[in-house]
Amino acid sequence: MIETHSIEIVKSTAPVLQKNSEAIGKRFYQLLFESHPELYNIFNQTNQKRGVQQRALAHSVYICGEHMDHLDAIKPIILRICHKHRAIGIVPEHYPIVGKHLIQAVKDVLGNQVTEEIIQAWEKAYQYIADIFIEIEQELYDQARAQEGGWEGFREFVVVKKVKESDVINSFYLKPADGKAIAQFQPGQYLTLKAKIPGEKYTHIRHYSLSDAPGKDYYRISVKREDARNGNPAGIVSNYLHRNIQEGGILEFSSPAGDFILNTKSMNPVVLISGGVGLTPMISMLNTIIEKQPGRKVTYIHAAINGRHHAMKEHVARLASQNSNIRSYVCYESPTEEDRRTESFDKEGFIDQAWLESILDNTQGEFYLCGPIPFMQVIYRALRQMDIPKERIHYEAFGPMSTLGE
Ligand code: FAD
Repeated sequence: MIETHSIEIVKSTAPVLQKNSEAIGKRFYQLLFESHPELYNIFNQTNQKRGVQQRALAHSVYICGEHMDHLDAIKPIILRICHKHRAIGIVPEHYPIVGKHLIQAVKDVLGNQVTEEIIQAWEKAYQYIADIFIEIEQELYDQARAQEGGWEGFREFVVVKKVKESDVINSFYLKPADGKAIAQFQPGQYLTLKAKIPGEKYTHIRHYSLSDAPGKDYYRISVKREDARNGNPAGIVSNYLHRNIQEGGILEFSSPAGDFILNTKSMNPVVLISGGVGLTPMISMLNTIIEKQPGRKVTYIHAAINGRHHAMKEHVARLASQNSNIRSYVCYESPTEEDRRTESFDKEGFIDQAWLESILDNTQGEFYLCGPIPFMQVIYRALRQMDIPKERIHYEAFGPMSTLGE
């Protein structure tokens, strides 16, 4: 632990860092990539361009600083980041590089607002936090290595099957190119892809939730094609997967990671709520319950633009019709004529608290959310209004953020 005086300095100056977090984050990545361009291979370059990575980093620094003397309170946030670090291949050697440029970025942005004493306190704090991250990540690396079928770094997989699930989502079934066993995973976890795209200078790393139950001799991921929109370019990796990767193609993944997981030791009721491609971890959870926990009550609520965007709808409808413990509800933002004709949805528009209250017969059990951030924020607030405690609401964001800002 660092001494009390430094902790006090860090805690009292954390808000100043928070206020200037965007500028600090921007300057940090500029310094980092100038001196270590090879790190472009690891960090998501689109997230840099969109500014979301900078905000996420600055927020992490701020909350660590603010919780310096009781880091236990933010353990779930730290663990989530450590899982991502392990998945993308962050190693202890990266920490001094990041620390050096982060401190320099603080000096550059805050100039004479910060004294040498403040800088020293933050250097100590960074070292202290970095050591915690390194230790947790080491454990995660050890676990990934030790597990049967586990592996280190990135391993080649063959796409053995590619399936169109909706107008915008394709599933990829993956078997290891070496023909050996694959590691088990927990429903809700993700694989991390290192895409080597012809013509791209650096590799692109992206996470994809596993979309089937564990226990198979393959993994399945389901990827939404991110089209060009509002003047922003089309998504690099999702379009590469949709257009260029066919059956027989080879892709490299690191082993399963993530702490957004279904507790399969409990038989408590489960409410799964997803929006768009956020259905992937939910389908893994749902399939797991069907296979491993017969009778466990599941309410699955899914929101999509319309039936053409709604992946795996027949699969979920079939499970609900064949299993009395599974109830499924569908909300379409703008249903098509076909959706209306087939009465394939339960609500038009958006999910709101009144509708949730009308379909949830009780609010017991665990709630799992996955979808766009604004979608999750609305649902999260509604669930909290319904007196569901935070501890029973679990969520996964498909981007670099760690809390819904509650
Ligand atoms: P990117 O190139 O990363 O672009 C992303 C978006 O940013 C696009 O909409 C693009 O138009 C926009 N954009 C690009 N440049 C700019 C700019 N300069 N300014 C503003 N906007 C810009 N995705 C799935 O499809 N299925 C999953 O199961 C899944 N699971 C995930 C699990 C986790 C834990 C996480 C973190 C993410 C998951 N994702 C999943 C998201 C996935 O990792 C990718 O982010 C997604 O596929 C988009 O990657 P891309 O390379 O196609 O798009």
